[in-house]
Amino acid sequence: MKKCRKGLCIAFSGILLLVAILLVRTFMFVPKYETKATSLERQNAQIDEDKAISDLSEAIKYKTVYDYDNSKVDTNAFLQMHSFIDKSFPNLTRSLEKQVINKYSLLYKWQGQEDDDAIVLMAHMDVVGGETGSESDWDYPMFSGQVTDDYIYGRGTLDIKGQLIGILESIDQLVKEGYVPKKTIYIAIGHDEELGGNEGNKVIAEKLKEQGVKVDMVLDEGGYIVKGVVPKVDLPVALVGIEEKGYVSLKLTAQGKGGHSSMPDKEMAINDIASALDKLKDSPFDAKIDGPTKEFLNNVEPKMPFISRLAISNQWLFKPIILNMLSNSPSSNAIIRTTIAPTIISGGVKDNVIPQTCEAIINFRIFPGETVDSVREKVEEYLKNENVKVDIVGSSWNPSKASNSNSDEYKEVEQVVNTIFPDTLVSPYLVVGCTDSRYYQNICDEIFRFTPVVLEKEDLNRLHGVNERISKKGYIDMIQYYYQLVKGLK
Ligand SMILES: [Zn+2]
Repeated sequence: MKKCRKGLCIAFSGILLLVAILLVRTFMFVPKYETKATSLERQNAQIDEDKAISDLSEAIKYKTVYDYDNSKVDTNAFLQMHSFIDKSFPNLTRSLEKQVINKYSLLYKWQGQEDDDAIVLMAHMDVVGGETGSESDWDYPMFSGQVTDDYIYGRGTLDIKGQLIGILESIDQLVKEGYVPKKTIYIAIGHDEELGGNEGNKVIAEKLKEQGVKVDMVLDEGGYIVKGVVPKVDLPVALVGIEEKGYVSLKLTAQGKGGHSSMPDKEMAINDIASALDKLKDSPFDAKIDGPTKEFLNNVEPKMPFISRLAISNQWLFKPIILNMLSNSPSSNAIIRTTIAPTIISGGVKDNVIPQTCEAIINFRIFPGETVDSVREKVEEYLKNENVKVDIVGSSWNPSKASNSNSDEYKEVEQVVNTIFPDTLVSPYLVVGCTDSRYYQNICDEIFRFTPVVLEKEDLNRLHGVNERISKKGYIDMIQYYYQLVKGLK
């Protein structure tokens, strides 16, 4: 009896100690990457808002959907977009040096006071089309640029003509005011981002490298300011992409005997592919809290309810639970592991003929720490008992280098966000898609992928989707953001 009471006593003390450790760690927890940015003195650009809104509406009307097969492209739309920029931004056109790259991409140079330092502001003029059949789901035609009381509608308002025209409005205004930036500013406007950027920004980045341009910072698209999207965080969160995932597609090929479907063999190509795909569903890629994802969790943690803070501050104990929770939603699953998405499957031509070959293409978005080769090797190893061959198809690339969220450049971005969007939490973040900014890695260490506009959860479906739109206020704030950023460059 006594022994039992002593045992209970030890167990109870143990629990008390554990609770004490958890609480101390929770309350003493200091985000490793916490930045202490303050806001700046706000510089209000005297923007002609009606003109700015009508400019974006006009830009939406050009059907700049690109394809490497030029016979499928309305090349006039790209050239008209060039003329529109010349005409609508007369101050910028007069004072900045313009180069046309591969017929449709544009590179502007605005000479700064200091010869050595430069930044690159990026946006692309191409847009995705729309799924055929989805046109009737739009409230206004996709390329109408319809302006309503509160919004501008159309393909590209969010991705990313809003950012493109926003940058041009702010620079045009600054030139008009006679402002000369401290650093030289390049504006890189690609025409084929949605296809991978091979003709546009890849070439622009190579040109800048050849010219020996030293770039301190590149700002591209990537994250947005999201509201109601990060679970258990009420504040809007500005997601500044400091790194982006890699990309590879693997083709699985299975060979079988083929023949008449009336006498099927046990081994059939379609079954082999089905079995391999089924196996891949139980991912061979481990989930990790690492790099930008770790920084992100550490940054949002102080704004979360107690129970979430307790878990994040005590990952030594709760990591499996956190990973399990993050795995449950596609968007959070994508920031903790290499993802696997079968996208194309083909095999067979006739219902009574067993095909000899069946193929599947699977797209992988590669988590930092893995590479194209390591993904292929892992998949080969994982499927070694399956009757399939594994090959890389199309373009592939490794995850980008990570930019430094403690750098002066990151802090500049953070300060400008704090100034234009008060009460917003700024956080580093892993971009799960890909952007043209990866081409600038050889000439710049500090690349930040961020569009300064507030999006709510339902807006995220509008990206590449139906009824893409930007609020007038959001768009005007974006112009103010770039204006403030350029004026604040150190
Ligand atoms: Zn884009």
